Amino acid sequence: MPYIAEYIWIDGTKPTAKLRSKAQVLADGKEPGIWGFDGSSTNQASGDQSDVVLNPVLVVPDPIRGDDNVLVMCETLLTDMTPHPSNTRAKCAASAEQYSIQDTWFGLEQEYTFFEGLAPLGWPINGFPAPQGGYYCGVGADEIFGREVVNEHLQACIDAGLHISGINAEVMPGQWEFQIGPVSAPLVGDEMWLARWLLYRISEDYLGPNETPISATLNPKPVAGDWNGAGCHTNFSTIKMRESLDACVAAAEALGAPGKPELHIANYGSGINLRLTGAHETQRYDEYSYGVSDRGASVRIPWQVAKAGKGYIEDRRPNANCDPYVVTQLIIDTVCSAATK
Ligand code: ADP
Ligand code: MN
Ligand code: MN
Ligand code: MN
Repeated sequence: MPYIAEYIWIDGTKPTAKLRSKAQVLADGKEPGIWGFDGSSTNQASGDQSDVVLNPVLVVPDPIRGDDNVLVMCETLLTDMTPHPSNTRAKCAASAEQYSIQDTWFGLEQEYTFFEGLAPLGWPINGFPAPQGGYYCGVGADEIFGREVVNEHLQACIDAGLHISGINAEVMPGQWEFQIGPVSAPLVGDEMWLARWLLYRISEDYLGPNETPISATLNPKPVAGDWNGAGCHTNFSTIKMRESLDACVAAAEALGAPGKPELHIANYGSGINLRLTGAHETQRYDEYSYGVSDRGASVRIPWQVAKAGKGYIEDRRPNANCDPYVVTQLIIDTVCSAATK
């Protein structure tokens, strides 16, 4: 029996890239190989030199089609087989390789918001729901919107073999989170992009209370004003951090070294200054701080880590719409280079 391989890749849309996919029917026993697409339709090429190459980096079971069908996460290459300019994975893989001896692990907390039409899912068409307070990890039809989709997505990620470690309802109604990790880079980025694709794809099949389709968005500040934004807290550790609190503190210091806060903020997702206001459990985008248990800091050392005297730290700054390949590459470069000095 032939099977279906859904090839998934990241396009060249700026400032925030989009996911694209298309399917190929493969003969039984044939592995998914190099393929290509029309880059002039994805902001990745001009019409006269339109071919962009798809290079499979991770093949997993397709939890939607089932049977022997697969999802194929790809990186993009030029026709000379060098990385396409929009390919951020190649640089991430190079940094991970350079510092492989430090064995960095990442756990990413992906927040997102469901929309139905122009309003977040479950919101009144004209106006606002009750203020934030009861929604985070809530239960009941007056607090929770979209649980069916969230549960189907969670099971799909498990069935695909991704390292999904949990889900929770978030502070703003209609907002949710899932976590991937801890795993090393660039795999954590491959899995995050696949999990995002599954979220968008599964949402296609659901209608909201107004009988129109649901969509998931990674907009970092989906509703202006006194409503939480959406982030992608990035937890990470090196082998030394998993053995000593001093190494955790040194990593937090390295992220605050001259020039580093600006470099990271500039690459942590479009619209980051709208989200990192200093309110709603964030530090301001133009200030850097770290502290134990401090959800108003740029970087948090979890209390369990301080107590155990070892573990990991949480960079709370990345936006929901960040590129996990870029975020993990920058953290590896900044933290691991400082640790080898
Ligand atoms: P929060 O309290 O910030 O909401 P979560 O439970 O949502 O925390 O996420 C914590 C994340 O930390 C998980 O994704 C988990 O995989 C990750 N994590 C745990 N231990 C480590 C570690 N040693 N290195 C890197 N990430 C880790
Ligand atoms: Mn979380
Ligand atoms: Mn959260
Ligand atoms: Mn967090």
